[in-house]
Amino acid sequence: MKIASKTVSAVSLVKEALEKAKKYAEYNVFVSLNEEEALKKAEEIDARIAKGENVGRLAGVPYALKDNFLSEEGNTTASSKILEPFHAPITSTAVSKIEAEGAIMIGRTNLDSFAHGSSTENSYFGPTLNSHDKTRVAGGSSGGSAVAVALDIVEFATGTDTGGSIRQPASFNGVYGLKPTYGTISRYGVVAMASSTDVVGFFTKTPDDMNLLMSIAAGQDSKDMTTLPDFYDEEPKTIKRIGVIKDFDNDAVDQDIRDALAHKVELLKSKGYEIVELEMPTLKYALAVYYIVVPAEVSSNLSRHDGIRYGYRSEDAKSLGEVYGKSRNEGFMPENKRRIMIGNFVLSSGFYDAYYLKAQKARTKIIEEYNKAFEKCDCILTPVSPNPAFHLGEKVNDPVAMYLEDVMSVPINLAGVPSLAVPAGETADGLSLGLQIVGPRRSDKTLIEFSKELEEANE
Ligand code: GLN
Repeated sequence: MKIASKTVSAVSLVKEALEKAKKYAEYNVFVSLNEEEALKKAEEIDARIAKGENVGRLAGVPYALKDNFLSEEGNTTASSKILEPFHAPITSTAVSKIEAEGAIMIGRTNLDSFAHGSSTENSYFGPTLNSHDKTRVAGGSSGGSAVAVALDIVEFATGTDTGGSIRQPASFNGVYGLKPTYGTISRYGVVAMASSTDVVGFFTKTPDDMNLLMSIAAGQDSKDMTTLPDFYDEEPKTIKRIGVIKDFDNDAVDQDIRDALAHKVELLKSKGYEIVELEMPTLKYALAVYYIVVPAEVSSNLSRHDGIRYGYRSEDAKSLGEVYGKSRNEGFMPENKRRIMIGNFVLSSGFYDAYYLKAQKARTKIIEEYNKAFEKCDCILTPVSPNPAFHLGEKVNDPVAMYLEDVMSVPINLAGVPSLAVPAGETADGLSLGLQIVGPRRSDKTLIEFSKELEEANE
């Protein structure tokens, strides 16, 4: 990262980023720009540098904020109508930490409304376009953040990953995207999707930038009781054995992606790594488990949006019931409503045992399967999604086809383990391809270090 030194001023970095954001307006990357505040902060940083003050490790570095992080700069909309007028009274811990090091937020990025989706087409503000092909999706839900980094508008962007929302858009746009171990970075002040799988992470252009951001953002937070005691800066482990999941090597996965994986495996072999074939038969249930557990948590987390406490309230409501009903009906996108319906169904007294309880048991089996796999190998190299970026409109009206996009990303969230999406070349038509490196809990830094090996192998 070009950290503000005496040769580059923070003001010029921020101006450049804002100009690029405007130049690429047609991609619909940003829900809002933070022009005035960003320039003011940049001037302050330059003044402090001139005085010789210590301005932090990210001083003057422009970044983009996924629009589901609360901060007092701008409205936090979660790309929804219901939160469009919502100005947060607090700032999330993740934002406080990176801004304490001098990073400057230049805009809030588009996402699938409330992070429900895999393409950013479910946004109330319209879809974000893919950085490599404007007729295709950016991926989702953090599509805006991935494209902001891929188009080189900013040095890094924040994301959240509940079932793939950092890794899949990262791989659709050829950048790095980390889904950390569950509990590594505080979720305080982040719009909740599914509390048991939500994590905060980043998009960057290099592994070193990712490492720097993680060591700044990770750590226990008294405002989020699920955060782990600080572990991120522990010495990384050496990776020797790479697992490859046999169950994913089939026709359901695009040939380009299987070739990219095979290519990396050959290169790793030639570098002396041991390749371990894994059978992980329980992973095929992960998608079904995810689409029970996550909507259950979604329906509960979204119940707070009642037209009274937050954001939008329907104007033609004539009774309290209508305030709730109409505000929610007009304020949520169809996909939000679908998840609320599914969640309420699987939690209802008649179906709880058959769906929710059974899914939780299957989730335990998935966790056990990863534990067993990590006895045989140090990390797993696997695709992020079954295909490269698809066309706009191709899947948005077919929820099951859209959910199938997540088949390889959701098991990782259910198990709470870390995974780093890395660029892995391009298709013949120039679409970016990605792979993910999955490791045991707390191996985040190890994965980032190891990704440098793959990067060399890329050349
Ligand atoms: N695509 C997944 C979903 O729709 C994941 C979303 C996310 O990680 N926020 O649930």
